[in-house]
Amino acid sequence: SGPIVVVGGGLAAGKAVAQLRDSGYDGELVVLTAEDHPPYERPPLSKDLLLGEAGPDDTLVQEQGWYAAHDVDLRTGTRVTGLDLAAREVVVGDERIGYDRLLLATGARPRPFAPADDSGAPVAYLRTLEDAARIKEQLTEGRRIAVVGAGWIGLEVASSARQNGAEVVVLESAAQPLLGVLGDEVAAVFAELHRSHGVDLRLGTEVTGVRATDDGGVVELASGDPVPFDLLVVGIGVEPVVELAEAAGLQVDDGVLVDASLRTSDPHVWAAGDVANAEHPVLGRRLRVEHWDTASRHGETAARSLLGESVQHDELPYFFTDQYDLGMEYVGHPGPEGFDRVVVRGDTDGLVFTAWWLRGREVVAGMQVNDWDATDEVRRLVGTEVDPDRLADDQVALADV
Ligand code: FAD
Repeated sequence: SGPIVVVGGGLAAGKAVAQLRDSGYDGELVVLTAEDHPPYERPPLSKDLLLGEAGPDDTLVQEQGWYAAHDVDLRTGTRVTGLDLAAREVVVGDERIGYDRLLLATGARPRPFAPADDSGAPVAYLRTLEDAARIKEQLTEGRRIAVVGAGWIGLEVASSARQNGAEVVVLESAAQPLLGVLGDEVAAVFAELHRSHGVDLRLGTEVTGVRATDDGGVVELASGDPVPFDLLVVGIGVEPVVELAEAAGLQVDDGVLVDASLRTSDPHVWAAGDVANAEHPVLGRRLRVEHWDTASRHGETAARSLLGESVQHDELPYFFTDQYDLGMEYVGHPGPEGFDRVVVRGDTDGLVFTAWWLRGREVVAGMQVNDWDATDEVRRLVGTEVDPDRLADDQVALADV
């Protein structure tokens, strides 16, 4: 039979190839990635790399030499331009590469911010090592960095920029940063964190335009009061890279549709990571997750599924962030039904606390901030039913809730 072909150069692709070899697959294995690097991890791009605490090589899923040592045909700088499901071939320009089984790990790309795109002003998105290098260059004492979007990426960039001495303005249309995920009370903690580190955080702000100037650019706001910048960083979310799948006729709906074993609508094709919209057997609905942990586990699960093992991805979504001296972990997924109560335990001013999102008696998500002993309790309680009043009572130990 033909080779296993993996399309992508992120974490899902990197973990999948490692798992294929670990699981004893010794057949032909080809990795095609559009980027000029072996598969790498992105979380350090907005943190350690911008802080100058890590370099590009620190992000690699496997070190450079691993692929040759494991007889993996890694082709960097290789963009797949088409898929022929009937012929079981991927198309790279004029070349066709046959496969027996195919894994799509094409990830996601930043959502474009229309007002900035034709402005001619210095605008950056953050998804690749090259993006990080370009932004890092601008993060010096007194440089004026404007950030559009107070989501995870925008806030991490703001944190790294401030720690490099840059002047930072963050523009967000919602009333709080991360409001949809965290709810008002916990979102306010993040707002205060950034303000206390000197970020000019402007909430409820409507951007009406972006204009180039002699020395950079200006963001125009509905409220007047334009924001001049040396660099504008856009972080308004990502969209899954589905063009190949869509054009080939795979089922696509906010990502490539896969079952819990990460199989697409074609029996020879799997999808994993940010691009996969997967059935979740525990949550009982479809889910497309844009987090490191899911990409990592998806890569491994897809590899085993591809080799005929009966496996499912049934982990709850898990996410982490680091901003200034705040480290946090979040588990769960409230989904479209959301939450009706947020319980906070501990010291939000001192930035050591846990937060819990409830729907009725069910804990739909939990988070620990600088309270690493609570990690296990967060994992244990999310998805279970509790007495909300006991959870809210600081006197009751988490272990007894
Ligand atoms: P990606 O990493 O997007 O990789 C997809 C790859 O496929 C890319 O290399 C792309 O070039 C390639 N590709 C696409 N189309 C083609 C084609 N046609 N041919 C060939 N190659 C193609 N998550 C967390 O949980 N915590 C964090 O703190 C965190 N921080 C982050 C910080 C930043 C700056 C970013 C960008 C992301 C962060 N994430 C974080 C999210 C996490 O990095 C993603 O969930 C993860 O990268 C998804 O991996 P993936 O392999 O699915 O896709």
